[in-house]
Amino acid sequence: MLSEFDLIAQYFTRPARDTVRVALSVGDDCALIAPSPGMQLAISTDMLVEGRHFFPGADPFWLGHKCLAVNLSDLAAMGAKPLAFTLALALPDSRAEWLAPFSQGMLALADAHGCELIGGDTTKGPLNICITVFGEVAPGQALRRDRAMVSDDIWISGTLGDARLALAGYRNELALDADALEAAAQRMHAPTPRVALGQTLCGLAHAAIDISDGLVGDLGHILQRSRVGATLDADALPAGPMLSMQPQDVRRRCALAGGDDYELCFTAPAKRRAEILDAARSAGIAVTRVGTIESAPGLRLVGANGAPLNLQLSSFDHFASP
Ligand code: ADP
Ligand code: MG
Repeated sequence: MLSEFDLIAQYFTRPARDTVRVALSVGDDCALIAPSPGMQLAISTDMLVEGRHFFPGADPFWLGHKCLAVNLSDLAAMGAKPLAFTLALALPDSRAEWLAPFSQGMLALADAHGCELIGGDTTKGPLNICITVFGEVAPGQALRRDRAMVSDDIWISGTLGDARLALAGYRNELALDADALEAAAQRMHAPTPRVALGQTLCGLAHAAIDISDGLVGDLGHILQRSRVGATLDADALPAGPMLSMQPQDVRRRCALAGGDDYELCFTAPAKRRAEILDAARSAGIAVTRVGTIESAPGLRLVGANGAPLNLQLSSFDHFASP
């Protein structure tokens, strides 16, 4: 077993790559960082608890990836550029077989986004991983939840629902063959934060949120904060490749209320459609128009023919069920 300090030195200490913005990294009482001149800091924290957010015994490489990915997704949803992150870790023990792949998965994603690990805390306890990310965004440019405007288009990046489909397969809520389960589970274990898209949407989109708890619930946050309503076309939603092979009811439910997608839901004026499509193309991710912001409060679901749908959906709420 490694000591706390050996463990930090071996797995979580690297020379800062960006010595301009990160003046002091792991090893002192505080890290010292500075955003680029004139930029605001964007800060977000997400905690992942074993048995609640991931299965006991989850693959450590992909767990490391996912813990950072969900935090980078919050920066993406604000249009912020990643700078750095801290890692607070409670670990039952200090096994190299776990720590090596965990740190590799996390740091590979960190490197892909130029996001430096600048510090943290390590303690013994039930497995619990808490990351705080720091990003930068130009003043007035952040994509906030409270900026949606009546008659904005509602857009979704990528595809929805495959992560929820995998969960349904693991829980035996429906029968999935082994190949379909494995493909869908990729989306659950290895989410891709839409960091480049978020940044290209600054100045184009009005409001944005990342979809972590399910589209209906997360779009609901935009509607509530922006004091508007919306109509969503349930059959326009881009279903993941595995979900699209499922019957319509499963497709609708997983796309509307599945969690763990980590796609962006954003609103933008209709006159900017061509620019939005260009921005998405340059960020390398498809975007789909799925609805419209309206003045009447509440969320209305319609089917492909425009007829109202009355589905009972609840997005994932940690305290709603045991
Ligand atoms: P202190 O007792 O002053 O809070 P610690 O002994 O907790 O300091 O941590 C020593 C150094 O290692 C600090 O710079 C801290 O930020 C860093 N650190 C601790 N745990 C981690 C971790 N899991 N990942 C990255 N850095 C860490
Ligand atoms: Mg400490």
